[in-house]
Amino acid sequence: MALKRFIAGAVCQQCGAQDKVRAWEDESEKVMRRECVSCGHHDVIALQAPEKTELVTRVNYTDPVFDEDIQPVRILDASGSKDA
Ligand SMILES: [Zn+2]
Repeated sequence: MALKRFIAGAVCQQCGAQDKVRAWEDESEKVMRRECVSCGHHDVIALQAPEKTELVTRVNYTDPVFDEDIQPVRILDASGSKDA
C-alpha cells in the first residue's frame, strides 16, 4: 500500500496550516493524493495522462452522434428501393 508522508513546509490551500499536509501515490489511479490532517481538505494531482480514460470519453461523445446521423439515411434508402 502507498506510504503517507508529511510534506515539510507544505501549506494547506484550505486552512493555511503548515506541515499538516501529507501526500501519497495512488498507483491504481495514477495520481498523487494530498490530505490535510488539520481540516480534512484533500486534493488529487495527476501523475501522468491516463490514456484509457481519454479514449472512453471520445467514444462516448462520438457514438450517439453517429447513430442519429446514419439511421434516417438508411430508412429513406430502404423505402426508396421498395417503391422502385
Ligand atoms: Zn487544511
